[in-house]
Amino acid sequence: MLDDALIRKLGSIVGRENALTDDRTRAACSSDATRWRSDPDIVLRPRNTDEVAGVLKVAHENGIPVTPRGAGTGLCGGAVPVGGGISLSTERLNAAPALHKEDLYVEVAPGIINHDLQEIVESRGLFYPPDPSSWTRCTIGGNIAECAGGPRSLKYGTTRRYVLGLEIVTPEGEVLFTGARTVKSVAGYDVTRMMVGSEGTLCVITSAVLRLLPLPGARETVSAVFKDLRSAAAAATALAGGGLSPAALEVMDAVCSEAVSAYLGVGLDPGALLLAEFDGMPGQCAENADRAARLLEGEFGVAVRRAVEPGDADKVWRARRAVLPALAALRPSVLIGDVTVPGSKLSAMIEEIMRISSRHGVGAAVFGHAGSGNLHPALLIDDKDADEMARARAAMTELTQAGSSFDGEASAPRGIGLDRQPYFDMEIGQSGYEVMRSIKHYLDPGGIMNPGKMFYED
Ligand SMILES: Cc1cc2nc3c(=O)[nH]c(=O)nc-3n(C[C@H](O)[C@H](O)[C@H](O)COP(=O)(O)OP(=O)(O)OC[C@H]3O[C@@H](n4cnc5c(N)ncnc54)[C@H](O)[C@@H]3O)c2cc1C
Repeated sequence: MLDDALIRKLGSIVGRENALTDDRTRAACSSDATRWRSDPDIVLRPRNTDEVAGVLKVAHENGIPVTPRGAGTGLCGGAVPVGGGISLSTERLNAAPALHKEDLYVEVAPGIINHDLQEIVESRGLFYPPDPSSWTRCTIGGNIAECAGGPRSLKYGTTRRYVLGLEIVTPEGEVLFTGARTVKSVAGYDVTRMMVGSEGTLCVITSAVLRLLPLPGARETVSAVFKDLRSAAAAATALAGGGLSPAALEVMDAVCSEAVSAYLGVGLDPGALLLAEFDGMPGQCAENADRAARLLEGEFGVAVRRAVEPGDADKVWRARRAVLPALAALRPSVLIGDVTVPGSKLSAMIEEIMRISSRHGVGAAVFGHAGSGNLHPALLIDDKDADEMARARAAMTELTQAGSSFDGEASAPRGIGLDRQPYFDMEIGQSGYEVMRSIKHYLDPGGIMNPGKMFYED
């Protein structure tokens, strides 16, 4: 617990009304989208970089844990203040973005919501590709800290590719600018990239320079329903290898479709859904969508739906983006895995997921970015049932290992945090793990930044 003198000192930096110790506010910042919970001692809502730096100086001097917090939509327990101390909310770090249209970049504060930024840049004919399914709620700071991706990462990559520079506050409270405002910045170590995906364990991100692209002239969505996920995945692999350059290629199984239908109150056709988005110059986009439709109808014998108008496409993508909350409504908790395998092994991996989950007696659904061979097995469980929880954890460990037997790898695009901490060294190998832990110790010797996350010990 923080004593009154420290609470007053922190309040003098951010303003007393933004230094909150009441139970309700602390409880609201005790969790994210996972089942993990732990109250901070205090929630601070700084307004600018100087205030963040002031808070970190005090935290550093007094050894107080600091857990940065965006919107709390994280899927790995990253924003959960397991060490108590300060939950540092970026809610008020939300100054209007500075758009540099000619130079194709935008400078943003970390508290801006991803979708709000998308709308701002698109209204000026520009494009910021990273589109996590939580985009109407999650913040850009959280996206950078988790290196978020979304359906469009098949063609455009994840957040990392778009971060040109960062303003960060170090654990000692120093303000540092890393990177540049130009694409060609090559001097020395790439500190910017190291901060992307650092999950609040190395710094607080207080501003970011994000690279933009010209907005594609056209977009078209092609969808089809298959009898099972394996057929949908086979079709996705064929589309991915067909030279059509889809922007997104997603699948979800019949459990997901049914859950989404109930959750959104829409009538999705029963079966596994394949969604493909094409974008680019209007003629080329339409031609690629035509070819995709012909391939799906000809080789896979399914009826294809096409959405050219933005409103129609939005409806289909809304269904895809609702998978997680829809699954979460089925059981008290969802344990999500992440496996990437070569396209030719997708089918076998799907079978393996079903085999492992059924052997452990755990209900499962599968969705994912099939175009890049990336599947999310979602185990549907009651986290208060210790036995079921243990079986789910055992199943997840096997699933994580299974990927490598199919020439693939387990990865964690939604972060390590608390949830995937037990698998982290398995995923990146012992030496990679030690390198990262050394970096953490060097940059944060007091271990105040988001302690208890990623590594077994800080
Ligand atoms: C329904 C749903 C769908 C999702 N879909 C996707 C998806 O498609 N792709 C994907 O990648 N993720 C997805 N996510 C996960 C989540 O939305 C992302 O990880 C997102 O980037 C988190 O942003 P946030 O603002 O909510 O961050 P939070 O959850 O608040 O924090 C996440 C982590 O970032 C750190 N952090 C936050 N802000 C800062 C900062 N300014 N400086 C330093 N560290 C900071 C926190 O300490 C924490 O470790 C989904 C989540 C939900 C609930």
